[in-house]
Amino acid sequence: MNDHDQYSATEFRYSSMEYRRCGRSGIKLPAVSLGLWHNFGAVDSSDNARAMLHRAFDLGINHFDLANNYGPPYGSAESTFGEIYARDFVPYRDELIISSKAGWDMWPGPYGNWGSRKYLVASLDQSLRRMGLDYVDIFYHHRPDPETPLEETIGALDFIVRTGRALYAGISMYPPDLTVRALKNLRSMGTPCLIHQPNYSLLDRWVEAGLLQVLAEEGVGCIVFSPLAQGLLTDRYLSGIPEGSRAARDDSYLSRDQITSDVQARVKRLNEIAAARGQTMAQMAISWVLRQPAVTSALIGASRTSQIEEAVAALEHPGFGTDELAAIDRVLIG
Ligand code: NDP
Repeated sequence: MNDHDQYSATEFRYSSMEYRRCGRSGIKLPAVSLGLWHNFGAVDSSDNARAMLHRAFDLGINHFDLANNYGPPYGSAESTFGEIYARDFVPYRDELIISSKAGWDMWPGPYGNWGSRKYLVASLDQSLRRMGLDYVDIFYHHRPDPETPLEETIGALDFIVRTGRALYAGISMYPPDLTVRALKNLRSMGTPCLIHQPNYSLLDRWVEAGLLQVLAEEGVGCIVFSPLAQGLLTDRYLSGIPEGSRAARDDSYLSRDQITSDVQARVKRLNEIAAARGQTMAQMAISWVLRQPAVTSALIGASRTSQIEEAVAALEHPGFGTDELAAIDRVLIG
């Protein structure tokens, strides 16, 4: 792709994607959303980043998820996104749901981390500048802060929505009990929580022990991150660690030690179940998280356009039979 290439979204972008209602809200999200945690930093190819955003949007993925510290370096995924947005996506702003977050380390000193009002508001203002946006659609507190009073963090989310910096508020990685408190707090301020963002995959099912039930009861949406367990739940590592994969990169949170022979053996067996369903391993992993009615969207990452195409094609497949779910459970538990 060269500088002169003009992007114009296909008119068929909404013809095959499934849109699911986000809790009891007015918003629907695509069943597959794209996150920019990896492969959109200053160290990565911006042509590839641009190609992935184009392909995603053409396939109906109209939700892009960011955070202040995605990169590397921190902030650079938002800058890359901002450049591509300015060039290609401005005409589509009202078709997009763009999210950002703060809660992990971002800048030095006591105000660049965790959950103070000082940090959240300043961080979102920086994110908006990097992305060249007037507002984000969703702003999340990225993780619970055990020291800052919940009321302060939640008050900051309410302020952020009231001042027009974000249209909706979200929380990420809050456990069930704290989620209940946060939702109550937000509701009492008149800013209902739109969505929760926890991790969920075949290899990590913690949300099944209470959180999904809370969200369903409270009418809050749920977008689950790392449904492919960062690539473990694909065919990528079935016979080793390929060059260029996330586990081979020094700047990633997927380490070589996580590719154990036990994980490889389980994924091989899951891969056989997927093949019998007519899906790839990655596709079955995505269909599996989406089988939960409380899950609104599977938030994937990608390093190339073909991975996005493969993920979206997972939606063509019907749901799971009880025999299939039992066979999967035997692999996971056995
Ligand atoms: P995934 O579990 O979907 O992992 C994505 C990675 O898996 C890709 O980058 C690629 O890695 C590999 N992969 C994807 N498809 C295939 C395929 N078909 N075949 C082989 N390999 C494949 O999600 P992420 O861990 O990337 O997280 C997704 C998003 O979730 C993030 O971008 C971010 O927006 C959000 N997130 C939120 C967090 C939070 O605390 N709220 C924390 C972490 C993520 P490779 O480079 O090897 O090709």
